[in-house]
Amino acid sequence: MAKPFASSTDTAAKEQTLEVLADGVYALTADGDPNIGAIEGEAFVVCFEALATPVAARKWLARLREHTDKPVRYLVLSHYHAVRVLGASAFDAETVVSHEITRDLIAERGKQDWESEFARMPRLADGAESVPGLTWPTLTFADRLTIDLGGDRGDLVLQHHGRGHTEGDITAWLPRQRILFAGDLVEAQAALYTGDAFHREWATTTLDRLKALGAEQLVGGRGAVSRGRTEVDAAIEQTRRFIQVMLDEVGSVLERAGTLKEAFEATHAALVDDFGHWPIFEHCLPFDVSRVWDELSGVERPAIWTAERDQEVWAQLQG
Ligand SMILES: [Zn+2]
Repeated sequence: MAKPFASSTDTAAKEQTLEVLADGVYALTADGDPNIGAIEGEAFVVCFEALATPVAARKWLARLREHTDKPVRYLVLSHYHAVRVLGASAFDAETVVSHEITRDLIAERGKQDWESEFARMPRLADGAESVPGLTWPTLTFADRLTIDLGGDRGDLVLQHHGRGHTEGDITAWLPRQRILFAGDLVEAQAALYTGDAFHREWATTTLDRLKALGAEQLVGGRGAVSRGRTEVDAAIEQTRRFIQVMLDEVGSVLERAGTLKEAFEATHAALVDDFGHWPIFEHCLPFDVSRVWDELSGVERPAIWTAERDQEVWAQLQG
């Protein structure tokens, strides 16, 4: 029997939990839905990720406002994906920060990604009509940007570690508190979405650099907060293994001149026991395998996902 498309039938509300990770450092986790965060400076707040719509973002801001009423000076976007950026207008942020490539990707494929993601995850698109348009970063950088939080609060370091989940992911790192907001570069007990990824770089140098920070707490893109070096390293290594298994399985099917469908089935079989029960596993895997296939076939940059292409790949692999 054909599986329902992506997360189109996953409509039950998820419980959101606001966690205080250190003085003035907040994470909102959501049972496998996208995580977000906020860091309090002396006179302002830095928000990390914007959710999918202003309606969804306002619910998060209402929770955050129970802890601080400082204005949002910076809204940091870890990457360009619609469910992470289209709620931006609710923050009234002075500055919207991203990697320079993220800005280019929004210009190149932001509209298509919006349509694709809202059709894949209708539950996250709560209040879709409140999105005023694409979100445009107003401050971009290539390698690193440091925000002085003021007082004795230390720095917040925004950093690009190489290509990974997308071409332009950045993380937010608090060196003093040793807390890392990793965006979708790391998932803790949630399946990976890799449809726009650079798998070989992600699984090697990018994760190596991120791991070398030595975080004591890590907020991944989805899933619970990892606490302590053991949990942090486990989340990073689980992410690496998921990617490596896909590379191995798809690579061996390509080597014997097999088909994309065979690559999907082999990858599914190799991952399902360990990862099949995690959020969005069945949703992500066709798009993931399709991109691994392209990458290993020499397609340098990910093909743009459109609502139509989503349906074609789904019908071919999960239908
Ligand atoms: Zn993403």
